[in-house]
Amino acid sequence: MQIARLAHEVIKAGRAATGSKDIRCTVSIGGFVPKPHTPFQWAAMSSPEVIDHRLRLLKQAINADRSLGRAIGYRYHDGQPSLIEGLLSRGDRRVSAVIRRVWEQGGRFDGWSEHFSYERWVRACADVGVDLDWYTTRERDQLEVLPWDHLDSGLDKDWLWQDWQDSLSEYEQDDCRWTPCFDCGVCPSMDTEIQIGPTGRKLLPVTPV
Ligand code: SF4
Repeated sequence: MQIARLAHEVIKAGRAATGSKDIRCTVSIGGFVPKPHTPFQWAAMSSPEVIDHRLRLLKQAINADRSLGRAIGYRYHDGQPSLIEGLLSRGDRRVSAVIRRVWEQGGRFDGWSEHFSYERWVRACADVGVDLDWYTTRERDQLEVLPWDHLDSGLDKDWLWQDWQDSLSEYEQDDCRWTPCFDCGVCPSMDTEIQIGPTGRKLLPVTPV
């Protein structure tokens, strides 16, 4: 519920700084979709029911204080499209048959909610023998060969695994721009070097107009 609290604080700070009640902010949120080449490539997605339940709880928390809640817009991407995004995000070549099947069944512009049909995706998975849960809500283990392992993004896979384990232990990694290198592999493999200012610019606090 920290997101609701943050949005409340934003409205309060805006009102205090301007002396006006006419302050708005928008919370824009969706279900978490794990992506390849990140520490979460092994993570299980939440089911659409769990995502939708959490979205409802967040909305309730935002509106728990009516005077602040009224000033906060709420945009969300609900559980079913998130799950399909998860299928496409970590799918292997077998998922291409699902995409083709959806297209054959009339699927177009599925990124637009008015065109999206979850049932069409579920049917397409069943038609071509793809298990939706296996690709989305299943946690992978360290030894699993991942469909993108042959692509080199510069990140060391063992380092990513350690970062995943750290995140499960709620250990926060520091930002390597300000600390010694953690050896993730990107800089040497991409032949890059991180360079920091000084820019001389003062970024915070922002002066309200
Ligand atoms: S400095 Fe480069 S190699 Fe080191 S942790 Fe940061 S991104 Fe990775």
